[in-house]
Amino acid sequence: MELLSERREVVVSHHFLIFTWRDPERVGAGFAFPCTATGVVLVDELDELGRGNLARCQSGALPVVAQGVRGQSEHHVEVAVGRCIECWRPIRLEGPVNTCPCGREYDLLGRQLAAQVGWGDLVGAGGAAPPTPAT
Ligand SMILES: [Zn+2]
Repeated sequence: MELLSERREVVVSHHFLIFTWRDPERVGAGFAFPCTATGVVLVDELDELGRGNLARCQSGALPVVAQGVRGQSEHHVEVAVGRCIECWRPIRLEGPVNTCPCGREYDLLGRQLAAQVGWGDLVGAGGAAPPTPAT
């Protein structure tokens, strides 16, 4: 199998410019505007209401306190994608067994697996036989 893309962990960082209400009844509540790490608000990502709220927070029209920039990171895994050696379709390598519509199976690393014909009985007997790479 030809790998079209490798499995990789992706970390995406987001930053927000935070304003919280002065009102002690609203502790922790307020506004979070998407921004750069240095606090430049990404105005294009705001709708009309968001832009209005940003303007009111920055001008002092709302009783809020500027809290500065806060960061947040998301982690996720992008699965590898390989090309089937039989039909050339791209296959996402998401689990221990990845089946192409043409019937070929590949493991997480893109190695072709032996056909499962004949080991269905083993699955019912209390445990699946581990798939083995074809040679
Ligand atoms: Zn295929």
